[in-house]
Amino acid sequence: MLTDKLKQVIRQAYKTIGENLSNFNPRKQQTFLIAEIAKTLAGEYSKDRKIITIEAGTGTGKSLAYSLGAIPLALARDKKVCISTATVALQEQLVDKDLPFLKKHAGLKFDFALAKGRQRYVCRQKLTQAVSHNADSPQVGFTFAEKPKASDIRTLNAMHKALTDGSWLGDIDSWKTQLPHHIWSQVQSDKHSCLKGLSEHSHCPFHKARETMEQAHVLVVNHSLLLADLELGGGRILSAPDETYYIIDEAHHLPKVTRDHSSASITLRGAIDWLTKLRDTGDKMAKLIKSQRAISPALKLGDDCQDLLMEMQKVLTFVDNNACVYFSENQDSNTFNKAFKSNNKNDDQVYRFDNGIIPKTLKNWAEDIHELSKKSLSHLNKLYSALIESVKDGDTQMYLAEPVLGEAGFMLQRLENLTALWKMYAKTDSEKAAPMARWLQKQNPSKGNARQDYLICASPIEVGFTLEDKLWSQCEGAVLCSATLLALNSFDHFRFQAGLKNNDDSQYQQVTSPFDYQNNAQLVVAKMSNEPSAAEFTDELIEKLPKYLAQGNASLVLFSSYWQMEKVAQALRDQHKLDIVIQGEHSRQHIIESHKKRCDADKESIIFGTQSFSEGLDLPGNYLTNLIITKLPFSVPTSPVEQAQAEYVSAKGGNPFMTLSVPDTSKKLVQACGRLLRNELDEGVITLMDKRVVTKRYGKQILDSLPPFKRIIEK
Ligand code: SF4
Repeated sequence: MLTDKLKQVIRQAYKTIGENLSNFNPRKQQTFLIAEIAKTLAGEYSKDRKIITIEAGTGTGKSLAYSLGAIPLALARDKKVCISTATVALQEQLVDKDLPFLKKHAGLKFDFALAKGRQRYVCRQKLTQAVSHNADSPQVGFTFAEKPKASDIRTLNAMHKALTDGSWLGDIDSWKTQLPHHIWSQVQSDKHSCLKGLSEHSHCPFHKARETMEQAHVLVVNHSLLLADLELGGGRILSAPDETYYIIDEAHHLPKVTRDHSSASITLRGAIDWLTKLRDTGDKMAKLIKSQRAISPALKLGDDCQDLLMEMQKVLTFVDNNACVYFSENQDSNTFNKAFKSNNKNDDQVYRFDNGIIPKTLKNWAEDIHELSKKSLSHLNKLYSALIESVKDGDTQMYLAEPVLGEAGFMLQRLENLTALWKMYAKTDSEKAAPMARWLQKQNPSKGNARQDYLICASPIEVGFTLEDKLWSQCEGAVLCSATLLALNSFDHFRFQAGLKNNDDSQYQQVTSPFDYQNNAQLVVAKMSNEPSAAEFTDELIEKLPKYLAQGNASLVLFSSYWQMEKVAQALRDQHKLDIVIQGEHSRQHIIESHKKRCDADKESIIFGTQSFSEGLDLPGNYLTNLIITKLPFSVPTSPVEQAQAEYVSAKGGNPFMTLSVPDTSKKLVQACGRLLRNELDEGVITLMDKRVVTKRYGKQILDSLPPFKRIIEK
């Protein structure tokens, strides 16, 4: 229950914030959200399921709402708040603006920290090794595959100096310039080569950042880091789930990030190559450990490695022998593969197994390989721990152990991935749930690699059960929110993707935007002769766009393909001398800045962009008054996972188009339309140049799920 005292703290905080914010209007949607979030997390609706899913329209001020709904309660109950976002833009807004403001003005005593993945921190150890040198060997410990350039060495020296004198904290984001990937990848912190146990490593930037995190009451993370923590069982990187209120902002991205985290792939020849060296790594470790207890795991690793190699070789021969069947278009009987191929320029490169079912022989090998890689992983882990102990005890010299530990670290990483992949191939799919998507991808010989190789991949199709298992059922409480969670005016689609249910005591709220859509914005459905699939559609866009561009001074035109955007832009530049800024021709930041400058100077400005410009682009006020959407953002299922998902829906008697594509398109269109009005006083026009919203049955559903703009259907 929320105590009166706590309610008073929240009310007082909201009041003080209002007094310190210019142009603050207390909004009833916002106060409603604060109350609902606080009540849910306090267990007023359910003691066991403190979860609320909220679609909060643009302008509701959801970050303030969830902060005030969760932080005072967490402070009172000695819990942590973990805010997870999908985009860096939102993380920056929270850490640089919203949370500092709240801390300063809400009368709440709390600390917050941005938690970043390990790979965003430099490894002090590797950096020191990279800049070490002596007369005989100018780059001792330097691990570049090719001789580094003088400028690379200068950069590394500058990094080392800044880290040592304390002027740099050691994270890539706070380095003054953009660090080239080939430099960063050599010195970034990674789990497997980390020698944390050694006393010399107490000044490690990554571990210092983790200590700061532990002190913080509120952590800001991204979905990927959240998933990484949950994968380790929760509470390893972030606070423990049962001690944490999770706020999942931009929650519509969570299912996809979860799926990406749950997938795995390996290259067959590539894996055989490193497995050939694994036995050697084990022997080197055993020699350094110099103790009897290293002998057994080293011998076992050698034996299991040998068996693993034999099994992997069988798989390679099998795929090689069947390559003409798997990768030839003519031999393909699978309808979904056919559809996939016709839409993909790498059409003969991918073979997806129908319904995830793999040949029996492959499954048998998968079971054996999974077992053997699990055993090898265990032996290597034993050797790794023994070597660390041996260094700590002073039996092995550190300078000898370090390169071997680094090598073993990479092997551990690869073995973990190998085990994960073959586990998914060995698994027998349950008849009650969606099968795994399993596919092969041909990798043609390239300049750097003259051999034909194959990528073996697997991914779950549905991840709702993973989220339920690792997060919802474990956490103290959770708030899932976004401006676009409903699809076709229902939570069903999201609920299913995220593993939530209708009747499990989870709460659902839809809070509409305070914007006056009827009076401030018009939605025009343009009179078009052609549907987007018609060959003449692009020419019709070229012909009609100038009229719609004339509707406003600040225009954003969204396309669903690059080629169409470029073709239309070229024609309009040539025929109408229009000054158009096109996505891809400059960086996103440059496009936005130059657009704003032109708007500030009262000049016409037109941006052409694709799907990625329909989300997260913030052009308030006069920076956007004319939004044109050329085509409904349907995406054709081109990836093997999407194909497998569509196939599964069909197998269950469903219609993949209505079940997957239409709800997905509806959400994307709401996102795209959300670019127009960013503040309560903003005004403008949205023109939709896809007549299917009025000619097709599903079109009405899509139109009805948009905010209540004033509609004009051109006849
Ligand atoms: S503790 Fe690990 S990441 Fe940190 S400096 Fe040492 S080896 Fe590198």
